[in-house]
Amino acid sequence: MQKNAFQFLEIPRQTPRELPVAVRVLGWREIYDGFEPPQAAEQAGRCIECGNPYCEWKCPVHNYIPNWLKLVREGRLFEAAALAHETNPLPEVCGRVCPQDRLCEGDCTLEDGFGAVTIGAVEKYIVDEAFRQGWRPDLSGVAPTGKTVAVIGAGPAGLACADRLARAGIAAHVYDRYEEIGGLLTFGIPPFKLDKAVIATRRAVLEHMGVVFHLGTEVGRDVEFAALMRDHDAVFVGTGAYAEVDGRLPGQDRPGVHAALPFLVANGRRVLGTADAAALPELAGRRVVVLGGGDTSMDCVRTAVRLGAAEVHLVYRREEAAMPGSRREVKNARDEGVHFHFNRQPLAIEGDADGVTGVRVVETQTSHGAGRSSATVAMEGSESVLAADAVIIAFGFRASPPAWLAEHGVALTADGRIDTDQSRRFGTAHAKIFAGGDAVRGADLVVTAVFEGREAGEAIARALA
Ligand code: FAD
Ligand code: SF4
Repeated sequence: MQKNAFQFLEIPRQTPRELPVAVRVLGWREIYDGFEPPQAAEQAGRCIECGNPYCEWKCPVHNYIPNWLKLVREGRLFEAAALAHETNPLPEVCGRVCPQDRLCEGDCTLEDGFGAVTIGAVEKYIVDEAFRQGWRPDLSGVAPTGKTVAVIGAGPAGLACADRLARAGIAAHVYDRYEEIGGLLTFGIPPFKLDKAVIATRRAVLEHMGVVFHLGTEVGRDVEFAALMRDHDAVFVGTGAYAEVDGRLPGQDRPGVHAALPFLVANGRRVLGTADAAALPELAGRRVVVLGGGDTSMDCVRTAVRLGAAEVHLVYRREEAAMPGSRREVKNARDEGVHFHFNRQPLAIEGDADGVTGVRVVETQTSHGAGRSSATVAMEGSESVLAADAVIIAFGFRASPPAWLAEHGVALTADGRIDTDQSRRFGTAHAKIFAGGDAVRGADLVVTAVFEGREAGEAIARALA
């Protein structure tokens, strides 16, 4: 297709078709379709190749965005797929779950007045379509080095690291306590944002590249960390952030109060078919209140809607603009009927020995100080009770590094994250141990975990060369 420099004027920004709300809330299907090839070429052709691609800089893995958009416009799909993988070991995942409005698309030159290029949707199209047509990463020129590396954690950080090791001819052995790969991609993020078939395809691709998965294997319980250190040339730790932030709310131990992640994991397993519904709270016909304003709370409210809750409310202590999650997810939740209560601080969960009756909240005001600092202040006399039959607490997560790391001389930061040395690209105080993802950053994003896993994998390959 010939480049038309003014295509962005003639063709408006278009996102892939969305399932109608009435249909999507009845099931777990991803709510966005993919692009068809002509539509992908048309949308990719809106890129004006501005010469100073802020989108690339804002993208945490620094994808070669304008270059693969051009390849899509020209119909050179397999080249686009190979290029996308040069910077991003999981492009089809990031295309689906990145908060693009805060990252690449938020910094697209066209965002101001014309509508950003639909970068995420094109990235997803490239890999979905290339895989569908049989494309696979080409490792035919890679010679095995005879080295092996243990990767602990099959989340995005561990998978990105394993991908880079395989491309360097190093045998990656990935250990995970869960029965499937993906970490939070499989067991946290619900299927309506990320279809689990996408992860199954990625698993097959990685296995085809020579990565070996040891699933249902918890390091420190089923296999000793010392044994991995003994048997491998290096170890990567990508164990995530699983310590729940405790709001210490009076009443949080009542029956009917649920922690966000076990709730999402139980539902994820039920949808995957690896567990039955027993671990899942009964929400059908109930009034559900979710506390917190991040990605996790957004996933909880939308899951509660699909489990048939009569009403779903979200309580957040700051204003809407301060919410850390993606704007797109807030819109999706609103469309699905979720009620948002901003500037409300939960004070206590009310009820009795049999369960929950409501959440006592107080109104807050945000006061903005110097620079970007701000504080929320409770407004006297503004308390009220939001009626509820079930409450889900989603106040976030902190890193939870396993105890055995310290025994091997790996230092932690004051707030409990694994301390890494940037000059050694995610190497730790122990020369043989590298780390990345939420275990290093604290709870963050898929794409930042991918970046750190990629960097660590390449650093390990250099160290073992
Ligand atoms: P994880 O994905 O947590 O993977 C760590 C893995 O290590 C797990 O599989 C765990 O089982 C394994 N593990 C831990 N200890 C051991 C051990 N001792 N032995 C063996 N295995 C072990 N980010 C986005 O960009 N977009 C989103 O839409 C989004 N939605 C989210 C929704 C929810 C509900 C949550 C909780 C997070 C969301 N995030 C989102 C954040 C994102 O999922 C994480 O930042 C990302 O998954 C971190 O990757 P990771 O590889 O560091 O850790
Ligand atoms: Fe945008 Fe995320 Fe893809 Fe980077 S990885 S181009 S931020 S969707």
